[in-house]
Order: sequence, then structure tokens, then C-alpha cells
Amino acid sequence: QAKARGKDTYIQFEQSMAEATTFRLTMESDLRNALDREQFFLTYQPQVDAATNRIIGAEALLRWHHPVRGVVSPVEFIPVLEGMGLIVKVGEWTLRAACRAVRDWMDRGLWTDSMVLGINVSPQQFSQPEFFDQVRQAIDDAGIPARCIDLEITEGMVINEVEETIIRMNQIREFGVTFSIDDFGTGYSSLSYLKRLPLDVLKVDQSFVRDLSTDSNDAAIVETILAMARHLKLETIAEGVELEEQLEFLKSKGCNRYQGYYFSPPLRVEEFEALLKNHQHITETL
Ligand code: C2E
Ligand code: MG
Ligand code: MG
Ligand code: MG
Repeated sequence: QAKARGKDTYIQFEQSMAEATTFRLTMESDLRNALDREQFFLTYQPQVDAATNRIIGAEALLRWHHPVRGVVSPVEFIPVLEGMGLIVKVGEWTLRAACRAVRDWMDRGLWTDSMVLGINVSPQQFSQPEFFDQVRQAIDDAGIPARCIDLEITEGMVINEVEETIIRMNQIREFGVTFSIDDFGTGYSSLSYLKRLPLDVLKVDQSFVRDLSTDSNDAAIVETILAMARHLKLETIAEGVELEEQLEFLKSKGCNRYQGYYFSPPLRVEEFEALLKNHQHITETL
């Protein structure tokens, strides 16, 4: 009987493997058409200065509107795009769309040249020799100041070819774009690498922020990360701030910029524009 059960389990396993493969193949073929069919769109999550309560910028977050499945999370499709090598093309689309959005907001008086839009960059994208040209083209075509764009890189990218990474980052920074290290603390890069990278901003990963008020280890980690950032003269932004007590803790440790549901989730463009309009009104009357 045990043997029969084992067999059943194995058949089930085989079936679910086959289903997973089919699912993946279907997703790949759907993704191959997604750009042409204009199924990608950007959402924008505001970043706030807690001291003044002003919106200082936003992060552009990619979404895929699948005709049957609805809106698919980047957590699901970005790794697939990376596996297909298609992230380079989609990444370029994202860069251009984000820069065009800033242009549009500037034209309508919703965005100033001191506000910054963060764009996520995959390691594969960054390692393309054409990457710098793609960035420059997107910014020039939109006719926006380069300092309005910040590129978010992750530790994953930093590990290999540090020298090359530094040279490329410096080249792009000379053009005026800034760099953030995203999801800081979740990767494997050593601090000695990090200190050599020409970074501007450190984003404290939301996994540490989540349990700040209940986990003293996380509180200690966040405090240490913030102290380190201060020594390295990096700006800090906390991710995933949902609660007032998280924000209070962060402020007390010197982190004034944050992004999270406490202020706003990522928004569709119309909602984001409405928020900018209202907020401008609020801060003007402060
Ligand atoms: P990320 O760059 O670390 O982005 C922050 C993620 O945290 C976003 O998830 C955002 O919606 C979520 N988030 C923001 N505030 C809160 C909060 O208060 N609580 C919680 N629990 N979550 C919060 P999202 O939009 O699902 O994106 C996931 C990841 O997908 C991003 O993480 C980024 O690594 C990747 N991604 C998104 N857009 C792009 C893109 O255009 N290009 C590339 N290469 N990767 C992207
Ligand atoms: Mg990011
Ligand atoms: Mg992050
Ligand atoms: Mg993340």
C-alpha cells in the first residue's frame, strides 16, 4: 500500500512538473509578445521626506497586464524575462517610458528638477556595452535633466567585475544620473566592495523594516546600516514602511526618506498625477 501511495505521489509530482513546465513555456511565449502588444505599464510609488512630508520623488515599478491573468507582479515575470534575455529590451522600454513620464509631469508643472525618479536596472541590462547610450538617449530624447533619474542596482550585480562596474557607473554618473543600491543587506557582496562603488543612495531593504518594532535584531541591523551609510556619505531611503512606529524608529536613527504603504502604494499614472497635484497644494500652503 505504501508502495502504491509512493507511486501516486510520484505521478502527482510528474504531473505538477509537467504543469509547471507548460506554465513557464506559456508565460515565455506570452512575454515574447507583450512589448508589441503594449501590455507593460509603469506604476509609481512616491518617496517622501519625513521631516517635511514632501514628495521628493518616486520609484517606477513595472507591471504586466496579461489579457487573461490580469496584472502580473514583476516578482513573477522579471526572472522569466531575465532567463529569456528579454529583460534588456523591456528594460530599455522602461527607461524610455519613465523618462517620457517625467517630461510630461514637468510640462504640466507636477515635477521639479529637484525631484528624482528611481528606475530598477537588471544586472544583464547594466552589463550590456550599450547601456550607457540607452540611458543617455532616453534622457536626451525626453529632454529632461539627468539628475531627475536615479538607477537602482542590486548587490547581485556588484559581485562580478567590480572594476568594470565602477568604471561604468562613473561614466553614467558624470552624465548626471545617480545610483542607488537597492534591497541593501539581502545580497552577498562584501562591505569592502560596496565602499568602493560610486553610489549616492542606499535603500534599506523592506525585510529589515518589516519587523523593526518586534525584532531587536532587525532594529540593530537597520541602525548599523544607517550608521554605515552616514560614514560613507550616502543618502538613505527606507523601503516597505507600513507603520507609524517603523517611521518613528527610522527617523530617530537618522533616516528621513521613506517609501511604503504608510504613505502610498505604487500608483497608476493618473492616480500618481492626482496625488502630485493635491500634495503640491498641501505643501504650498504649509
Ligand atoms: P524593489 O525595487 O525593491 O521595489 C520595492 C517593492 O516593494 C515593490 O514591489 C513595491 O510595490 C513593494 N512595496 C512598496 N512599499 C511596500 C510596503 O509598504 N510593504 C510591502 N510589503 N511592500 C512594499 P513590486 O512592485 O512588486 O516589485 C518587486 C520587485 O520587482 C522590485 O523590488 C524590483 O526588484 C523588481 N522590479 C520592478 N520593476 C522593475 C523594472 O522595471 N525592472 C527591473 N529590472 N526590476 C523591476
Ligand atoms: Mg527598486
Ligand atoms: Mg528594494
Ligand atoms: Mg525588493
